[in-house]
Amino acid sequence: AEQALIARREKVLGPAYRLFYEKPLHLVRGEGVFLYDAAGEKYLDAYNNVASLGHCHPRVVDAITSQTAVLNTHTRYLHEGIVDYAETLTATFPAALSQAMFTCTGSEANDLAVRIARYVTGGTGIICTDLAYHGLTSAVAEFSPSLGESVTLGPHVRTVAAPDSYRHSPKEMMEKFGRDVRAAIADLKRHGIKPAMLITDTIFSSDGIFAGPKGFLKPAVDAIHEAGGLFIADEVQPGFGRTGETMWGFERHGVAPDMVTIGKPMGNGYPMAGIVLRPEVIAEFGPRARYFNTFGGNPVAAAAGKAVLDTIRIDGLQQNALEVGNYLMEGLRALSGRYHAIGDVRGSGLFIGVEIVADPAVKSPDAALTTRIVNGLRERRILISASGPRANVLKIRPPLVFSRENADMLIDALADVLKTL
Ligand code: PMP
Repeated sequence: AEQALIARREKVLGPAYRLFYEKPLHLVRGEGVFLYDAAGEKYLDAYNNVASLGHCHPRVVDAITSQTAVLNTHTRYLHEGIVDYAETLTATFPAALSQAMFTCTGSEANDLAVRIARYVTGGTGIICTDLAYHGLTSAVAEFSPSLGESVTLGPHVRTVAAPDSYRHSPKEMMEKFGRDVRAAIADLKRHGIKPAMLITDTIFSSDGIFAGPKGFLKPAVDAIHEAGGLFIADEVQPGFGRTGETMWGFERHGVAPDMVTIGKPMGNGYPMAGIVLRPEVIAEFGPRARYFNTFGGNPVAAAAGKAVLDTIRIDGLQQNALEVGNYLMEGLRALSGRYHAIGDVRGSGLFIGVEIVADPAVKSPDAALTTRIVNGLRERRILISASGPRANVLKIRPPLVFSRENADMLIDALADVLKTL
């Protein structure tokens, strides 16, 4: 039956819609931290950072169904929902970031951010990290080098290495990132290109899951501001409490972004994304902008988003991410003493990377072993993924409701896999 579905899928969706795993997982249902396949097997979800509150969270389901039964429409009529939601959302940010604009995907949010940055600064230059992923619109793909050969980076784009905390000391990283951004700015200028923005994840995801030393973004942000450009913090992955210590990843660095782009867990599965920004930025763009987004911030989205923020606060999910994240990282570090394949465990809260190496003495990446671990965990009914520049970093980003018991399941299963490899 699975083979037939795969064949039907390929016929109508084509080769671009790739699936995880050689034997793809056929899911039919989700509840809390668990996903269920068509055969009724139960899997622990340690990967999905969209359903941050857990799959099909009742408060979000209720918010969506109640609102969709009453009214859903575009945003050109006055409706209280979007205002309520924007107030609740901006209240989670430092006071300077007091306005929001809504889209449906993170790509659109970054697309709007670059459009605003260029309009406001009069520049076109963009600085991002070597393996950044910021999205898939034509404008954003130009500064998403992790897409590899499928895109051409724009002539106005410069990349800098994300900090690698496994291979560099905190001091080296602190100095290097700021210096690299300054050099990129100088290179843009040499080519007659005025810098518009620096955009970075605040926990580097596709670059290899590096949280970096606290504060390391500061010199780079100072540099782009001095050059007349804006700093855009891409919080699509780390945002909404995942880092545990703070609601937003940039707060760990003591920097003030001009715009923050958000998405993924924003609607716990209902497609929502957006930008939170300083009013001064939008003041110049807003009145003349031809801006409209049919679905962004619609009444159902606003209700879903509000339910997500309320749940994070009421259920203390940021605190849980911190506690369980630390517990999980400790457990994983304890494993690294027993299994040399675990070269490094890093992250913040429930945003964790585990670097898999052939030889810890020389930190040699082992992508093949990493794939075997991901597959071995799947056989033990645990879902994670791998990423990073050398495809050797286990990516662990479970729902924020993950418990210590769930963490133990993951640690025990990983130990069991490593024992057999
Ligand atoms: N920025 C980051 C950091 C992301 O991880 C992603 C999605 N993986 C995006 C932007 C784009 O979001 P979307 O897929 O919703 O367009």
